[in-house]
Amino acid sequence: MSRIFNFCAGPATLPLPVLEKACEEMLDYRGLGMSVMEISHRSSVFDEMADATEACLRRLLSISDDYAIMFLAGGATAQFSQVPLNLASTQRHGAYIVDGSWSKKAFGIAQRLGLAQLAASSEAAGFKSIPSENEWLLEDNNAYLHYVSNETISGVQFRQPPETSLTLVSDMSSDILSRPVDVNKFGVIYAGAQKNIGQAGIALVVVRKDLLRDLDPVIPDLQSWKIQNQQGSRLNTPPTYAWYMAGLVFEWIEASGGVERMAELNQQKSETLYSYLDESTFYRNDIPSEFRSHMNIPFQIVDDSLHGQFIAESEEAGLSSLKGHRSVGGMRASIYNAMPIEGIHALIDFMKAFESKAG
Ligand SMILES: *Cc1c(COP(=O)(O)O)cnc(C)c1O
Repeated sequence: MSRIFNFCAGPATLPLPVLEKACEEMLDYRGLGMSVMEISHRSSVFDEMADATEACLRRLLSISDDYAIMFLAGGATAQFSQVPLNLASTQRHGAYIVDGSWSKKAFGIAQRLGLAQLAASSEAAGFKSIPSENEWLLEDNNAYLHYVSNETISGVQFRQPPETSLTLVSDMSSDILSRPVDVNKFGVIYAGAQKNIGQAGIALVVVRKDLLRDLDPVIPDLQSWKIQNQQGSRLNTPPTYAWYMAGLVFEWIEASGGVERMAELNQQKSETLYSYLDESTFYRNDIPSEFRSHMNIPFQIVDDSLHGQFIAESEEAGLSSLKGHRSVGGMRASIYNAMPIEGIHALIDFMKAFESKAG
């Protein structure tokens, strides 16, 4: 068996012990003589798995009983419409901070529904920063304030949640469980699973229970958090295997020392790579340090004609998926929880060798 270092932004690398456990349980889950993907989502074994998964997540992020936890199909993108449909109205808009492609997309969808307003944007500055809080245009009757905790494409991250009296809603798809977070500050936290939680196909949605409400009957039940929560996220058949994989990842995080330990390791990993980039005259990252992401690190070669060669040769060297997003260009190293520090060292060794050959 040979595993490589996978820097893909998502679907992303998974912890090896999680994949091994999934292998072990693949043919015969808990003595059933079936895999977990073959059993009913209404069976008692599935109920037990779902309960254990929820309980583990509650321990990891200290989530109280004031919050509902759901696992819903459609990824984070489905939440881009579910958030405004469940929280806003034409009289009470959601306010959006746009500091990258994902927040722009979230805002665009909510705006199309007539339920959103722009509070601030850093698009004119190329999404390399977060608009400063004293420039945000908020209204007392905004239904919520939405922000993307980590902008996966440009590599910009909030250090901490904004202070606001509004209901705070965050898309944490690419940094959930990478550091501690005070859930009590939030009305809603959601995250697609394929970066830091598990595999594609499911999103984690954490909602303060007092926000669950009945929707206009023309809105399909699948969109309703209240109904989904009443049905235990099983109004219809959910992505059962993705749900199970999320549980394995939560257990792995807990066994590895929890989110505090993840934060230490992520700090160490990102600092190692940023310090190398900052010392280099050959490579660069042009995000100001106070906004830099600990999860997604875009970087360029000063001579950008070398990008194609770098990407091809890094791939051959067992460093997969370093090609940057097409809107940014160059390279991007996504270094979620499951990326070990050895992956960062291997990347830097390769970068040094590439520079001495091509530079
Ligand atoms: C990847 C990503 C999404 C989109 O997730 P899907 O599950 O593909 O819908 C949304 N927001 C952020 C911050 C992301 O990184």
